[in-house]
Amino acid sequence: MGQFAIIGLGRFGSAASLELMRMGHSVLGVDTNGKLVDKYADQLTHAVIADVTDPAALDELGLDNYDVVLVAIGEDIQASLLCVVHLKSMGIQTLWVKASSHAQHLILSKLGVTRIVHPEEEMGIRVAQALSYPMVNDY
Ligand code: ATP
Repeated sequence: MGQFAIIGLGRFGSAASLELMRMGHSVLGVDTNGKLVDKYADQLTHAVIADVTDPAALDELGLDNYDVVLVAIGEDIQASLLCVVHLKSMGIQTLWVKASSHAQHLILSKLGVTRIVHPEEEMGIRVAQALSYPMVNDY
């Protein structure tokens, strides 16, 4: 089974983390918000309070032991990009990042991340497919 590190336990990051756990994977959840970390501590393999804009804090997480790191920080684009730059310098190979704007997408594509995720667009496409094929139910 895979080892995943999810940075940011907002709605998107927590949903991804819980689904990976449900599928039998190991998940490290990271957030600056202690209340969120407490909330998910029992449901994830590990949950840690850390500010991922701080390279020393990132180093302590041992992220090179994970198969994939997913940066799921939304609103704070600067924090997300800073974290990505640190992760790239640390040599993290497989890096998925949630993008919130066209500008962020452009910068992420220049930084060379593995996959840029656009939750709203991707969900819109899935909903359209579900509407178009109402007999096909993937849940
Ligand atoms: P969602 O839509 O998934 O709820 P969002 O798009 O509103 O999220 P945010 O709430 O801005 O995104 O960010 C997601 C999580 O990332 C938050 O729980 C926030 O505390 C966390 N986060 C933001 N900055 C940092 C940081 N520097 N280090 C660690 N976690 C962070």
